[in-house]
Amino acid sequence: MLYGDRPMLIGGQLTYGSGEWIDCTDPSTEALIGRVPAGTAQDVAAAVEAAREAQKSWGQTSIWERRDMLRALAAAVRARAEEVVAVEAADSGNTIGNLANDMFKSANQFEYFAGLISEIKGDTYAALSPNMHMTLRVPYGVVGRIVPFNHPFMFATASCAAPLASGNCVVLKTPETSPLSAAIFAEICAEVLPAGVVNIVSGYGLPVGDAIARHPEVRRIGFTGSVATGLAIQRAAAEATVKHVTLELGGKNPLVVFADADADKAADAAVAGMNFAWAGQSCGSTARVLVHDSLKDKVTRRLEERLAAIHVGDASDPASDMGPLNSGPHRNRVRNMIEAGKAEARVAFGGGVPAGLNKGWFVEPTLFADVPLGATIAREEVFGPVMTVQGWSDEAAMIEMANATPYGLTASVFTQDISAALRTARAIESGVTHINGSKMHYVGAPFGGVKNSGIGGEECLEELLSYTEVRSLHITI
Ligand code: NAD
Repeated sequence: MLYGDRPMLIGGQLTYGSGEWIDCTDPSTEALIGRVPAGTAQDVAAAVEAAREAQKSWGQTSIWERRDMLRALAAAVRARAEEVVAVEAADSGNTIGNLANDMFKSANQFEYFAGLISEIKGDTYAALSPNMHMTLRVPYGVVGRIVPFNHPFMFATASCAAPLASGNCVVLKTPETSPLSAAIFAEICAEVLPAGVVNIVSGYGLPVGDAIARHPEVRRIGFTGSVATGLAIQRAAAEATVKHVTLELGGKNPLVVFADADADKAADAAVAGMNFAWAGQSCGSTARVLVHDSLKDKVTRRLEERLAAIHVGDASDPASDMGPLNSGPHRNRVRNMIEAGKAEARVAFGGGVPAGLNKGWFVEPTLFADVPLGATIAREEVFGPVMTVQGWSDEAAMIEMANATPYGLTASVFTQDISAALRTARAIESGVTHINGSKMHYVGAPFGGVKNSGIGGEECLEELLSYTEVRSLHITI
């Protein structure tokens, strides 16, 4: 096994669990490359207890000490970035040539929240003079963070930054597929942080994620993953105690092209926004292209050309633009959705397995054209390299089409007409909307969904403050 057995981190100890293991398989080759412990509810209980104990002093450290620790984490991530990238490409199927950006985002998130740390503050109120009335912000204590497989290292690291900055200790659950890179983060935390400040438990949703969601000492949960799991976490959390739960969930994101748009730029943005380097496994993927009828054939042709130019291959090969899907079961799910889509719409490109790639969990970049209203392939999140094109002529009908999913994560609007752009941006139910752009995150501006895409903005001051509780203090003079 290339990467051997990798640890969890509980109470400052790198630990190998109770003897049950999860095998880690390279999605490009199907080779066994490592193992992580299959954590248990007992591991979660030990992790929460360690976090609770550690928080007594972590919550009392000066903001400057915490700032310096976050900066040390950023430096440690940078120092091991090359190693992480190699592990992650082999363990996740995300292409090695594009992973440097995830390392940047991991380190940057620690530095961003380190820089914001003095913004953790309350207000004063002009209430009953001469008395004084103010608010204080207090950490929750133990925060649970549960992350998905598509950016395993970036989510594992970045999800700890805001809770730590605001004085909490963290119990982090890594995804059951692609957990190896987050095990490197466990080693980093063991070196950089006091024992118990970050605890990392690998394992399955049940029992590990569920045990975190239910634990009465975990008062704040930040979850990134699917809608179904988000709902399960809300239910489990509500059964035990009252918790603050924020959710970053899926999307089926529209990219709207008006008749006056530049077809090439719109097609480029749609393909960039699909994140083919992640085989389309991105919550913000621009999976639904809604094009004005007058440009539909042109944009469809441009998309076909761009998809044909994508080189699909082993994710560890720097020449690959797109690797495999993350796991066998996920690949089967995506292929089933593509097959079902073929009964609903015309396949303009792809739809099968790339030639010569029968080993590994590959599918072709796939484009469905002339997709009718209401088609499942244009409504449900595939979480794979699948795009649909739908035509429109009436603006009101287009808005209805754009909003005809339970999701509301990202949207893009392409037009030269500023009024049409703003009108559309306001009408589309979406947490993040780009005008004449796609894909980018702008740290400092909230990233998060509406409707079933989630609750709460991240990568911004709101995220930092959301890991504190506001308490009012009234001083009688
Ligand atoms: P998932 O919901 O299957 O799993 C996410 C995490 O939840 C994993 O660690 C899993 O083990 C855990 N989990 C599963 N069942 C659980 C339970 N009952 N209780 C607690 N934890 C449980 O999602 P996934 O397949 O890993 O990721 C894909 C999904 O994540 C897509 O829907 C995608 O859009 C979404 N996502 C959203 C964002 C965002 O920022 N909005 C970012 C990335 C991914």
